[in-house]
Amino acid sequence: MTFQANEFDAKEVVNNDRDYVWHHLAQHENFKTNDPMVIVKGEGMRVWDAKGNEYLDAVSGAVWTVNVGYGRTEIAEAVKDQLVTMNYFAQTAGNVPAAEYAEKLLEKMPCMSRVYYSNSGSEANEKAFKMVRQIAELKYGGKKSKILYRERDYHGTTITCLSATGQFERRNQYGPFTPGFVEVPHCCEYRAQEGADLENYGVWAANQIEKVILEEGADTVGAICLEPITAGGGVIEPPQGYWERVQEICQQYDVLLHIDEVVCGLGRTGKWFGYQHYGIQPDIVTMAKGVASGYAAISCTVTTEAVFELLNDAEAGRMGYFRDISTFGGCTAGPAAALANMAIIERENLLDNVNEQGEYLRGRLNQLMEKHSLIGSVRGKGLFAGFELVKDRQTKEPVDESVSLAIAAHCMTNGVIIGRTNRSFKTLNNCICLSPALIARREDIDRIVDALDDALESVTSDS
Ligand code: PMP
Repeated sequence: MTFQANEFDAKEVVNNDRDYVWHHLAQHENFKTNDPMVIVKGEGMRVWDAKGNEYLDAVSGAVWTVNVGYGRTEIAEAVKDQLVTMNYFAQTAGNVPAAEYAEKLLEKMPCMSRVYYSNSGSEANEKAFKMVRQIAELKYGGKKSKILYRERDYHGTTITCLSATGQFERRNQYGPFTPGFVEVPHCCEYRAQEGADLENYGVWAANQIEKVILEEGADTVGAICLEPITAGGGVIEPPQGYWERVQEICQQYDVLLHIDEVVCGLGRTGKWFGYQHYGIQPDIVTMAKGVASGYAAISCTVTTEAVFELLNDAEAGRMGYFRDISTFGGCTAGPAAALANMAIIERENLLDNVNEQGEYLRGRLNQLMEKHSLIGSVRGKGLFAGFELVKDRQTKEPVDESVSLAIAAHCMTNGVIIGRTNRSFKTLNNCICLSPALIARREDIDRIVDALDDALESVTSDS
């Protein structure tokens, strides 16, 4: 790919970036010796940096976002047409793409009934937490305000979302946290807790939630927020029987089930939503990244009619409505992009592709595991995969972070961008993760896995 000389001055862009921009999750000391990467172009699954290097992006914009791939002019045009017609009005009033998208989205989510718009995953989750708190006020006189979250799950970057996040490494240094959030144990079978029933781990792990509810008092617990498959916490698939038991527990103790589909939503796992693999019925579903594949900022908090009705209670008077607003939840670019994004997923049968290529990806990763003893476990669903790196398969002792860093750097040198989950200060996690665009073909997957094979070879021979 070549760029027009007058498009930008690569050196200047890189210098400005290094001197003035504060990168996310970055230690800037590194930029004194290595130029920061500045991405200037994307097409399909490929991106180019300011120096003209081409990369195959195996993580959809680094953080599992660009589900339909880069360079979709049809989304850009839909957004442009909408912006020149009507760019913004607060969601205190309706707008055309928001109404249309809500209808289309709810068609994919039987039993769900209302869509509340905002513009990031964190914000969508905050809305859900506020809904739960307000229901506790209106229906339970302030009781049932506690919200459970699970060890290893991530729900966003704000202080309250971090209060609901089970990753010490992300929370460390950002307390004090919002009160009323209580952690339940993780459900990672590969890292099953001491004393766990390994024959029946899914039910055992779900029962740990019940234990917490009983310890806290069922009359104080209003909701539980869970990722259908834990993403950044280590690509943790729920063990067999887990979700069925979680649903039962929620029903038994009158606890609302909030599913965070920020990563798994919009086809990533081979169904429209991750929870749909497990036959469960949530009360609240949040989504963001894949909703518009990063072409515009949009997130949705989707609820059942029952949740909507509880918060739309005329008899409760002044407090009988959801007293919340998101200024940019009224931007029409979001739903316009989301409509075009959904049309692409449907027209190109991308869910079928995810299932077919996801199967192939998992097969190839399992082969990689046979070859490299550094891989302790391969996990994931659809085009959403990860493997955990261990020093020794018997002890499952995790590798040092330098190993996953070296693997990522090696892949990058070979023109493939892969992901790493957050290093944990505990033993869980130290995963390489992959979430290629839903358009990935077999040859893209081969290229990604071959680069990983090469990288694993190189770190093994280095040590
Ligand atoms: N929930 C999950 C499961 C996530 O992975 C993320 C982001 N990685 C968020 C919520 C927060 O989304 P955002 O960064 O858009 O606020």
